[in-house]
Amino acid sequence: MGHIQTLTEFLPARFAEDEDLLRGWLERMGREDPAGAETHEKQAWRSWAELAKNRLILRLHTGPHVCPSEPSELSPECSTMRALGLPYAEHPDYQIAWRPGPARQASSG
Ligand SMILES: [Zn+2]
Repeated sequence: MGHIQTLTEFLPARFAEDEDLLRGWLERMGREDPAGAETHEKQAWRSWAELAKNRLILRLHTGPHVCPSEPSELSPECSTMRALGLPYAEHPDYQIAWRPGPARQASSG
């Protein structure tokens, strides 16, 4: 029987995969396209920053915290965490219950 993952387990695993992909890409770039290194440097910097940002957001939302969005009945994780999971919706371990709900419109009263 497979262990049912939570987003708290799923997301760090995906981030680790992203990091591996990025490291592999950087290694290949260094070997195959040294001339284009400067162009790729910006891309690489942004990718690292995205990864760091995602890990930071996850850390801010895994413990007790105040989040303007409530968890759904299907998923105990807050909407911020479910939004973080969206880029990995094609992953076989991704669960439908994690899908973020429709963005709440600000009520004008
Ligand atoms: Zn939250």
